[in-house]
Amino acid sequence: MNVYQNVLAMVGNTPMLKVSNMDTGPCELYLKLELANPGGSIKDRIAVEMIAAAEAEGKLKPGDTIIEATAGNTGLGLALVASSKGYPLKIVMPDKMSQEKVNNLRAMGAEVVMTRSDVQKGHPEYYQDMAARLAEENGYFYVNQFENAANVEAHYNSTGPEIWQQMDGNLDAFVCGVGSGGTLTGIGRYLREQNSEVDLVLADPAGSILEPLINRNEEVEAGSWLAEGIGEDFVPKICEIKLANKAYAIDDKEGFNTAREVLKQEGIMVGSSSGYLIAAALRYCREQTEAKRVVTLACDTGNRYLSKLFNDEWMRSQDLL
Ligand code: PMP
Repeated sequence: MNVYQNVLAMVGNTPMLKVSNMDTGPCELYLKLELANPGGSIKDRIAVEMIAAAEAEGKLKPGDTIIEATAGNTGLGLALVASSKGYPLKIVMPDKMSQEKVNNLRAMGAEVVMTRSDVQKGHPEYYQDMAARLAEENGYFYVNQFENAANVEAHYNSTGPEIWQQMDGNLDAFVCGVGSGGTLTGIGRYLREQNSEVDLVLADPAGSILEPLINRNEEVEAGSWLAEGIGEDFVPKICEIKLANKAYAIDDKEGFNTAREVLKQEGIMVGSSSGYLIAAALRYCREQTEAKRVVTLACDTGNRYLSKLFNDEWMRSQDLL
């Protein structure tokens, strides 16, 4: 029988799709469809790996409660793992994230604690500080994707090798964003080991501190942006940011409209962060003078953003149309 024994076995081995209608200049652009994971995003991979590592290290035992700070997708991945393994799950999430994610998490049995989006690391209501404090006070297991080595390992062991194999070992550039930095660090390290010349390109929302750091070695104050899951106000511990040798600052208008264009032209409904990644990848492709093979990610499904990205009224209210 050609069947999966459980839902966690369906995580990974996602398809690669060639962009066929959008203008990619002299290049070929490929999208790795991480939205095809059972939890709908790339974060399923790290959820499986981080929980397995915590169990193996004795940090997580039956009956323990799991807590995580997340833009939502890591929470949804963890909800998949927690429900299949029987752990109670608490999620701390900044309030700018889509209502669909909150509803989805609650439907999967997670308890969602909303906190402020307008405060930065060090503030007691910052989502990561709040999750750490709740863990400390109540004896929960704090997953902490921002400092968890298993996050990087998940991408080094699965996403990176899958990309290399799907491209038949012929790849010039990989474009990604940074939330925790797991994808950049894990996939980036793996790809550079296969081909030291591969360009690792950061797609960063305008307002995030990362693009100025890479392009100009400049430390700036964080602003705000609408993408969910990418862009940072600090460099996470696990993130080897200097792996990126090029970066693009993408504003909200370009990021959101690129995601809408991908649906119209390529037929794939991606989420907001993927719009920024694909916008940066298209800019990179169009700047090239020779044919290159470029891969980026469709990090999550656009179904999660029907009330925002795919809602004209909301888009207009944010001055994005
Ligand atoms: N896109 C989305 C939709 C995400 O939820 C995340 C993770 N927060 C990322 C991209 C960034 O990935 P990473 O955490 O590996 O840097």
